Amino acid sequence: MRALVVEDDPVLSGQLQQALLGAGYVVDTAADGVDAHYKGDVEDYDVVVLDLGLPLMDGLTVLRQWRASRRLMPVLILTARGNWDEKVSGIDAGADDYLTKPFHMEELLARLRALIRRSGNHATARWTCGAITLDTRAARVTVDGQPLTLTAHEYKVLAILMQHAGQVVSRTELVEHIYAQDFDRDSNTIDVFIGRLRKKLPDGAIETVRGLGYRMRDAA
Ligand code: CA
Repeated sequence: MRALVVEDDPVLSGQLQQALLGAGYVVDTAADGVDAHYKGDVEDYDVVVLDLGLPLMDGLTVLRQWRASRRLMPVLILTARGNWDEKVSGIDAGADDYLTKPFHMEELLARLRALIRRSGNHATARWTCGAITLDTRAARVTVDGQPLTLTAHEYKVLAILMQHAGQVVSRTELVEHIYAQDFDRDSNTIDVFIGRLRKKLPDGAIETVRGLGYRMRDAA
């Protein structure tokens, strides 16, 4: 497992590096946003720990730019105590989980394991539903061979539906797969993502199963 640690505090960065090395990760570090952005753009990491307060380029901008260029590796953000709006901004920017400083190293390692496990569930698959193809390795979706532009959350929702094509997936299941444990699990956001996906996908690709959830039509 390869991890990128982005933290400008040298003491905390060293502690994170030691903990991850001890847990068997190969660790790269970055101490500013520009270096972090470059590394995350050109290297493949299984997981990233990203501090938000960084010199040169702040962590949220780094994350937004990664997601905009389809860098979809799991990212756990580190936020300052009491700064709840950072968490919201972090979710919006495409973070998969967060921890508030100070945190216990054991908890961080457990969160990272969970993130890697979730992303590993569909690490190297390629699914097809009618005209739609989703390649999880490249994080790419095409319709009739034409590439589709999706946000990170739209992509995640579609990936789960396609992984279970022909089966009903409940809104709760979707929320659980998309947000980490401490995130606000508001299932209304799922309806928003489904609505946006429907506008981008062929008509009838995603069916609503009243009272139960959503289903990807097996052969559209
Ligand atoms: Ca910092």
